[in-house]
Amino acid sequence: VSRVAIVGAGHAGGRVAQHLRAMGHDGPIALIGDEAHVPYERPALSKELLLGRTSPDDLALTPHTFWTRGSGNAGVERHHARAQRLIAAERRLLLDNGVELEFDQLIIATGGAARRFALEGAELPGVVYLRTIDDSLALKEALRSAQSLAIIGAGVIGMEVAASASELGVSVTVLEAGDRVMARSVPPVVSEWIAALHRAHGVAIETGVRVEAISRGTGGRALSVLASREGCTSEINVDLVLIAVGIECDLTFLDGTGIAGAAGVPVDAYCRSPAAPWCYAAGDVASTFNTHYGRNVRLETWRNAENQARAVAEFILGRTDPYVEIPWMWTDQFGHNIQVVGLPDTGDTAIVRGNADLGPATVVLLRDGRVTGGVMIDQGRDRRYLEALLGRAPKVPLEQLADPAMPLKGMV
Ligand code: FAD
Repeated sequence: VSRVAIVGAGHAGGRVAQHLRAMGHDGPIALIGDEAHVPYERPALSKELLLGRTSPDDLALTPHTFWTRGSGNAGVERHHARAQRLIAAERRLLLDNGVELEFDQLIIATGGAARRFALEGAELPGVVYLRTIDDSLALKEALRSAQSLAIIGAGVIGMEVAASASELGVSVTVLEAGDRVMARSVPPVVSEWIAALHRAHGVAIETGVRVEAISRGTGGRALSVLASREGCTSEINVDLVLIAVGIECDLTFLDGTGIAGAAGVPVDAYCRSPAAPWCYAAGDVASTFNTHYGRNVRLETWRNAENQARAVAEFILGRTDPYVEIPWMWTDQFGHNIQVVGLPDTGDTAIVRGNADLGPATVVLLRDGRVTGGVMIDQGRDRRYLEALLGRAPKVPLEQLADPAMPLKGMV
């Protein structure tokens, strides 16, 4: 009977444990996590939880009773600790509470922490990050009394919080170093649509700005953000600053094992580390060889955590076909639902079906006549057709592809 250790008790880690039990694995499972909560899903942290439309308990992956079954072979042995060191040659894990665990298979599902920004003043009270339930509850509380919020970084989380805070009546300024919002997730035409949506709701968005420092504010505001653009500096006084500049994976516990890569844990299409055949990775931390793209891809999305966790449980129990994830994510902002299929940076042509100014619309991304992905604005029903078209040439001329009256379904 094999002993499984899972490092990271978040979305992917929790799901691996659940699937292993559901699929009949009856060996011991140790789940190591440094958060006090039972494994939970994060998407609501920047949306429904801030808006008071859901509660922390609703975010749990599975009812608490699953985790309280104890550590027998039906249950899961939970360790509230941080993995500190892996001794690969002995398959032994040292935790920061002094516990040592031996295992046969190891799953790394440590996700990422909000990237810290080396910025003068970033440690002042009122400067916050968002990754965990605790972060979200603290931000929610702070927003109750704040009148103004500056958000550094116009990625998905920055823009979601901008929408939520604005809906709560807070005046929001987004400061982005790049030239458009959500540049890593959507093509330029959709960035424009999202920026316009925010501006229509009163959110100020400034792109091409460098945040230089944060200091104590003036005029009754707690904080002052010093930013510069093309040599001109300006100061914005606000009550609260959110730094949302992506995530970073802390894999120091793997030092010396050859398992960690430059960013994340590289694994093959079977989610297995080339450095250690007993070691798997799942979720945000996994840089997985994707046969669809012919290269390693690291996805920071809910569906990847969900699907890859299941795949890892299956691989441990003998699955032989590779894991191939078609990238998919969604975001909700100001009542609009935006979904992205594929990797947005792989296309060179964007065909807008519908009215991208007002939505609903589907933007199809192509390269050399083949579909590389797309974005749906309030048009989620196109998802399965876009997924089916991925990597293929649509069976119609481009003019017809642009005509929203021609269903995508017929082009597959
Ligand atoms: P996590 O869920 O982060 O779990 C990793 C866990 O490991 C954490 O609890 C961490 O503390 C713990 N850990 C790390 N290192 C150690 C260690 N050494 N020892 C012990 N424990 C450790 N995706 C979408 O597709 N759509 C969305 O709308 C969306 N919204 C999001 C909103 C927010 C605010 C956030 C933060 C994420 C959102 N995501 C969204 C992304 C999605 O939540 C993640 O992709 C998903 O949580 C990844 O799961 P994971 O298990 O890899 O990482």
